[in-house]
Amino acid sequence: MKQTATLQDTFSSSRRLLEGMISGMREGVIAVDGSLRIIASNLSARILLGGAELNSQVLNEVVSHELIPEVFQRALKNGDRTETKVELRVGRDNRVYDLRVAPLTFAEEREQKLAIGIFYDITRLERLEKVRQEFLSNVSHELRTPLTSILAFVETLEEGALEDPENNRRFLNVIRRNAERMHHLIDDILELSAIEAGKITVEPRDMLLAPLVDDVWSALKEKASKRNISFENGIGRDVRVLADPRRLEQILINLLGNAVKFNRESGGVRVSYERANGFHQIHIADTGEGIAAQHLPRIFERFYRTDTARSRELGGTGLGLAIVKHLARLHGGEVTVESVVGEGSLFTVQLPDLQ
Ligand code: ADP
Repeated sequence: MKQTATLQDTFSSSRRLLEGMISGMREGVIAVDGSLRIIASNLSARILLGGAELNSQVLNEVVSHELIPEVFQRALKNGDRTETKVELRVGRDNRVYDLRVAPLTFAEEREQKLAIGIFYDITRLERLEKVRQEFLSNVSHELRTPLTSILAFVETLEEGALEDPENNRRFLNVIRRNAERMHHLIDDILELSAIEAGKITVEPRDMLLAPLVDDVWSALKEKASKRNISFENGIGRDVRVLADPRRLEQILINLLGNAVKFNRESGGVRVSYERANGFHQIHIADTGEGIAAQHLPRIFERFYRTDTARSRELGGTGLGLAIVKHLARLHGGEVTVESVVGEGSLFTVQLPDLQ
């Protein structure tokens, strides 16, 4: 008698344990009988299939996605595990699931066929995979363009232009420029992937801002003066910020470089500083062509450019602003942009003031 009670206890507590485990699972779980009637399900399954009560319903009647009942049916019929990828609308999101269904047979009831399906949410994985593929295809495309040009000019030289004193140097120059572009691109890609892999750390320290801005500008001065672009460093000589000097320099090289590249003839660039809401704010303003409103939300994405051909012509990689954004965030800050087409752009780097 005591023995039976213990067995029953064990049985009911393991059933409770099982129910507890299934109901607590983040994955949606559904079990159906041989006629696709749902005999058990958890809350996650209910949420991802639209919220209605599932138990005792027939699967085809509660799901709109025809693949779902089909894989359950296949598992029941063939007695094999099956799986499929399904996209479902959950709330306001489209989510992707890897649905795996396994048949269940019990030794004592061979006729009673059941199948249990688990919905694994693979939305994030799918998104990452898409980003990875896009990145690879962008990189290949970006590398192919200068490479094609290099090969074409080498061929022209080989076919006789080498002996043509008027053009041979010019062709070599084109080859060099394209090789430099590839070099620059590879450097940017390596930099970006090191940042994204978490291999780059910033070591902020208290530093003077104005001299750094001067240094960065002196590297750009020659380019700017060719197009008569003026510069004003409006940062007070005693302004100090908390930043990693090398990383802040990289941020400024990219932003000031763009302010020159996308400026108009005889335009201007101005850098200024203010402290607001506990942040150091460094503003980089230019009087350039500006960025149309529809591009602004995407401008910090890698390889996003408003005019790809023009960016390439100016020696751009389309990665500069993505690097800037990452570096600002590594400092615990942010970078933002405002712009008016035809008037200019204003980039703001915010760095937290930890003092
Ligand atoms: P790129 O190598 O093309 O400069 P970035 O990532 O630095 O790449 O910038 C992405 C794009 O953003 C540029 O191609 C350009 O279209 C736009 N852009 C960036 N800075 C400016 C600016 N100061 N004025 C106008 N457009 C800009």
